[in-house]
Amino acid sequence: MSSALVWFRRDLRDFDHAALFQALKNHRRVFCGFVFDTEILDGLPARVDRRVEFIHASVLELDAALRARGGGLIVRHGAAREVVPALAAALGVERVLTNRDYEPAAIARDEAVAERLRVLGIGFERFKDQVIFEKNEVLTKSATPFSVFTPYKRAWLATLNAFYLKPYPVEQYAANLAPPPPGEVLPTLADIGFVPTNLAEVGIVPGMAAGRRLFDDFQKRIGRYKTARDFPARKGVSYLSVHLRFGTVSIRELARVALATGGEGAETWLSELVWRDFYFQILWHNPHVVGASFRPEYDRVQWDDAPALFDAWREGRTGYPIVDAAMRQIAHCGYMHNRLRMIVASFLTKDLGVDWRLGERYFAEQLNDFDLAANNGGWQWAASTGCDAQPYFRIFNPVTQSEKFDPDGSFIRRYLPELARVPDKYIHAPWTLPPIDQKLAGCEIGKDYPAPVVDHAQARERTLARFAVVKGAD
Ligand code: FAD
Repeated sequence: MSSALVWFRRDLRDFDHAALFQALKNHRRVFCGFVFDTEILDGLPARVDRRVEFIHASVLELDAALRARGGGLIVRHGAAREVVPALAAALGVERVLTNRDYEPAAIARDEAVAERLRVLGIGFERFKDQVIFEKNEVLTKSATPFSVFTPYKRAWLATLNAFYLKPYPVEQYAANLAPPPPGEVLPTLADIGFVPTNLAEVGIVPGMAAGRRLFDDFQKRIGRYKTARDFPARKGVSYLSVHLRFGTVSIRELARVALATGGEGAETWLSELVWRDFYFQILWHNPHVVGASFRPEYDRVQWDDAPALFDAWREGRTGYPIVDAAMRQIAHCGYMHNRLRMIVASFLTKDLGVDWRLGERYFAEQLNDFDLAANNGGWQWAASTGCDAQPYFRIFNPVTQSEKFDPDGSFIRRYLPELARVPDKYIHAPWTLPPIDQKLAGCEIGKDYPAPVVDHAQARERTLARFAVVKGAD
């Protein structure tokens, strides 16, 4: 077969790329394409979106990298299910190759593309690229999917061998890259209807080169990951999630380096990459988790209709500093530290009694690294409705979490300047500061910073009562 089109999606790199490698190996002329899919973009709540800017800049970088090897990207703006078959037909290719996506909406779109291509007599092939193991590659001894992490991880590690981590040496066949037809120009951000965000200002750099720099930097710190990763004020984590989301780094390379490094830090970090695979396979085997509890009996839990409390949570005005600082972090830069994601998700569901789906949707709108599988998994874990979730009676205390993971309040002060002069001892529960000292610290509760919107001890009792409907269901 002589010509093919590689359809890039969440794999914006020109190295170690499954579909690109297969295309180049088997075809003499390989075109590369990317679609700004209006079926996705039209559903975004605003025309200012850090993810779109990240993708746009990464697409420009990818185009330049492909051009340097004699190829380049053909970029379209439209409904992918129509645009991709039309482009393939116009180019006269025999096959379209792409890397597999595991989200139900993406699967449906790909089926529609496959069908249109079939009618046109063009082949469509999908490859595993964004995970180490997919679908049924890691199963229990009785050949069923795992729903508990620890045995999944054990089986994941037992199945792993060099074959699964082998890079795809795209460069070997780069001579088969075909340049875009004459007259192709890349759209600007404005052309696709979006405006620039504060991405650069908050230090998030799109693209492969930035992904590599972050990973290089993290490798110097990976040995400390286990001890540093839970403290949001410290530079303890990798910050690679947005790059993993859009494929500007290769998961195989990350896993390979973690394994080769060894030691407690790297092993703990590798576990996080296994969590990522875990939630992808949960979503693949259980598409009902989109919109419903993993464990159906948990759909009996009645959540409160509390729009004012939800707004206070979203806007960082709950009166619990660790929650408010975290919510201001996500609004400011689209990132939130994992420990804080757990704290605020627990707070919304177990302190405010609000349905996890509302929090999940807000995160989906805000997170640069938003990923349906991990986000749904994280929310259902915190709400106790998910697989291998936090038991419902284990309820995070936002004050003790704050004392433990931000002991001197440095993270809190970074995002809540109104608490800057509150003494460390009171920073986690500033309403306990005597009124005279509140005045001295320039932070009067109820005036400069809100009083707590709920009492944690009372909220805890309400949550235990709320979950009584599922008692004994586990
Ligand atoms: P690191 O600690 O350096 O971890 C490395 C990588 O491992 C991450 O980039 C990520 O790809 C993966 N990872 C780490 N923890 C998890 C996890 N618990 N589940 C799945 N993968 C994990 N992660 C997302 O990528 N997208 C989301 O939309 C998302 N939503 C979340 C929502 C909630 C309520 C919770 C509790 C967690 C969520 N996570 C999500 C998981 C985790 O918080 C982020 O992956 C992590 O904070 C990203 O920062 P990092 O890259 O520095 O992580």
